[in-house]
Amino acid sequence: MTGSVDRILEKAVAGERLAAEEGLALLQSHDLTALGQAADLVTRRKHPEPYRTYNIDRNINYTNACTAVCDFCAFYRPPKHPDVYVLRREELYRKIDETVALGGDQILLQGGLHPSLPLEWYEELLADIKARYPRLNVHGFSPPEIHHFTKISKLPLRTVLERLKAAGLGSIPGGGGEILVDSVRRAITRGKVLTDDWLNVHRVWHELGGRSTATMMFGHVETLAERIEHLERLRRLQDETGGFTAFICWTLQPEHTAMAHVPKAGAFEYLKTQAVSRLYLDNFDNIQSSWVTQGEKIGQIALFFGANDMGSLMIEENVVAQAGTVFHLSLETIRRCIEDAGFIPRQRNVFYEYVDEAPPLSAGGSGGAGESGSVDLPVLNASN
Ligand code: SF4
Repeated sequence: MTGSVDRILEKAVAGERLAAEEGLALLQSHDLTALGQAADLVTRRKHPEPYRTYNIDRNINYTNACTAVCDFCAFYRPPKHPDVYVLRREELYRKIDETVALGGDQILLQGGLHPSLPLEWYEELLADIKARYPRLNVHGFSPPEIHHFTKISKLPLRTVLERLKAAGLGSIPGGGGEILVDSVRRAITRGKVLTDDWLNVHRVWHELGGRSTATMMFGHVETLAERIEHLERLRRLQDETGGFTAFICWTLQPEHTAMAHVPKAGAFEYLKTQAVSRLYLDNFDNIQSSWVTQGEKIGQIALFFGANDMGSLMIEENVVAQAGTVFHLSLETIRRCIEDAGFIPRQRNVFYEYVDEAPPLSAGGSGGAGESGSVDLPVLNASN
């Protein structure tokens, strides 16, 4: 087994594409060091620059009403529940003002699947945001929401996406991917988009010239082969469109959810799966570390297991936060994690363009992005 794993790793490091059974053999192996070294070599080939990046944005959940039921979600409320909210504009603007004041250039705008808000409501929301903050990127409405909008509006997917784009939608998050295998999706979600439709939202968005991210939430009811099937579906779509900017994976956070009985996957499983993802997704440029679910230490080590980016300093996250384990890092800590790992931290936007001044290479890259130790909840999205 070790011999064949070594051969597969050599192949991936040389830039050759792995077959599904080879990806599976890697996931079945326990040689974390070898997997990490190979993933790191691939990362350094794709990113020889001395930088590792992060982003500053804020997750704004415009509603918690949801017609779907996901066993891993502690955020949503059934539409008639007394705690249901739809965010008021003043509150929305206050959250955006705080984000901009911290140097953020983006919001992650997501919500539950509201039973009655029409497409016009979302168009107005986008138009209002863009009128007030023309330079802000709205990274919003993951595939389950957009698929839901097509049901509410009874309009074709392309029309819905064209209208959202015209109203100011900048990019689409990859939430709600979980595992892109219908039997797994049916086991843990009800009333939510299935695999082909999830992928098709990205496909059509990419055809319209848009970019989006891809995710995977693992460590629940799926098999290792199903993790590879998920990666395979993403790799095929990326071959077709090239529209994904990055891949992010994280482990199920089962606390306070209907999946509380599921044993939580640990750091070994996380690092192994991320490393294999780096090796398998040869057509993805960027992999984000999920320090939100893994914590500062593993989130930093993930930079040596395939990640080239620390993800977002996010100022708010309701879905993961309500499910339990959430780690909060300040901007200073994220930058220090990158520096201590031997890289220079750079702030980027959702398109992976640097948005800060290039630091002198000898300076170690510290400072310049502002103090954020007092920011409330910097965490990464795991919703839709
Ligand atoms: S994860 Fe999203 S779709 Fe699922 S219940 Fe929560 S809010 Fe609704």
